[in-house]
Amino acid sequence: MAGVSGPGPDGARRIDHWIGGKRVPSASGRALPVYDPATGRVQASVGLATAGEVDDAVAAAAEAFPAWRRSSLSRRAEIMFRFRHLLDEHRAEIAAVISSEHGKVRADAAGELARGIENVEFACGIPALLKGAYSEQAATDVDVHSVRQPLGVVAGITPFNFPAMVPLWMLTNAIACGNTFVLKPSEKDPTVSLLLAELLAEAGLPDGVFNVVQGDAVAVDRLLAHPDVAAVSFVGSTPVARHVYVTGTANGKRVQALGGAKNHMVVLPDADVDVAADAAVSAAYGSAGERCMAVSVLVAVGAVADPLVDAVARRLRALRIGPADDPESEMGPLITREHRDRVASYLDAAAAEGATVVVDGREHRFAGDGFFLGASLVDHVRPGMKVYDDEIFGPVLSVVRAGTYDEAIRLVNDNPYGNGCAIFTRDGGAARAFEFDVVCGMVGVNVPIPVPVAYYSFGGWKQSLFGDTAIYGPAGIDFYTRTKVVTARWPDPATSAVDLGFPRTR
Ligand code: NAD
Repeated sequence: MAGVSGPGPDGARRIDHWIGGKRVPSASGRALPVYDPATGRVQASVGLATAGEVDDAVAAAAEAFPAWRRSSLSRRAEIMFRFRHLLDEHRAEIAAVISSEHGKVRADAAGELARGIENVEFACGIPALLKGAYSEQAATDVDVHSVRQPLGVVAGITPFNFPAMVPLWMLTNAIACGNTFVLKPSEKDPTVSLLLAELLAEAGLPDGVFNVVQGDAVAVDRLLAHPDVAAVSFVGSTPVARHVYVTGTANGKRVQALGGAKNHMVVLPDADVDVAADAAVSAAYGSAGERCMAVSVLVAVGAVADPLVDAVARRLRALRIGPADDPESEMGPLITREHRDRVASYLDAAAAEGATVVVDGREHRFAGDGFFLGASLVDHVRPGMKVYDDEIFGPVLSVVRAGTYDEAIRLVNDNPYGNGCAIFTRDGGAARAFEFDVVCGMVGVNVPIPVPVAYYSFGGWKQSLFGDTAIYGPAGIDFYTRTKVVTARWPDPATSAVDLGFPRTR
């Protein structure tokens, strides 16, 4: 892959839009710095789109739509196969870009990309996925069939924490279904969007089918208002998800808006403490807790609490936290200095509200100006404390102690979020009861981060998703198509007659 951006006016690498098959610099005069979170240094500048620049991207997508929707299924599948091959060839390079702008360690960036590639593999099956239904002789000499057709121009708005995977959740199915696409990636780590654009072009995707506008709320709000945008997929925080859903649907668009989370991991007294502690630490502190499926609340039931807290704390003291270019690093920095400081502020608030800070990540010292924060563990947390109620999105794990399974399930179900949840136990009956009882979209049984594989679909409940459809997999095909039902007869003129009765099938 070539370099994706030219130098900006201040000499910093400039990150452009991608419209109609080429890089287009923003002329808005508004730009934001893109940091290397591991050093705290500015590494590039991203131009923020005007409403007019969004209109240019939508116009390019609208122009490309008629020809793209006519393209054969085998051609679309072939492009997806080539795209998959190119992503595979460039894994290391893409993972390095993810790490440099997001901060997550290299193995984690590679893992994100691998889970994104699963969605390309799913879309390679588009000829089978778009098969309709046919009923011969639905009435006498009348046949009925249904087809799935694309919506037109669809938009994707994505968060900073998965700059490759979340765009791939959306664009793969959207494009394979015959739509054209405008992506508005996070302004915090925007370069990966251009790598995806270049690889799609190299895979043979016609100009205008995939476009990128860099920007902030101005770009989002224009996409939500634009009359030629038929549907919007959003992934980000709950307040913005709600805004996107309310505004987009009020403007007549199909919208799926995935929001934030507070994922609970329930550990029953019979669980293996070391297994549960390994899982909790991996799921709470991987990617510095900046995952929508991160475990942020450990619900310790009964006598397991003390040994579990000890086992987690022991593991935290051994965690290696550092920059992604150090192969020893297990956890990287947070995305910005402001976010790091906001996350750290929850520790004082927790202590003031009566919780116990067992491990204080602020005591971990780091050289340089990177946005690092050590891993923290807070015990004796209860609903009503800020550390419990807010989505912190950082390396802070809360422990809530519950007396019984019933108390634990009430806690999980009363939480306003319902993205992921997990139970750790050796009791199959208890696990089955949890699966049945829990009000949450994605459930793990001895699996702390139950992100569904790409041939299922991803979606939380309650305030973790606004809209009717989950994202990717079969739900993605439903979201990006509409069904047309055709009723057909080839009448014999000899038997034709006027009949004002309502058509009957018998
Ligand atoms: P965010 O909501 O701040 O930003 C998401 C997108 O919305 C970005 O493209 C951003 O530019 C845009 N945006 C931000 N403020 C806006 C506004 N006021 N009006 C219009 N657009 C706006 O989220 P983030 O900080 O980038 O990502 C972290 C959040 O995303 C967390 O809450 C996390 O739980 C959530 N997330 C959810 C999922 C999921 O699948 N449910 C997946 C990943 C991340």
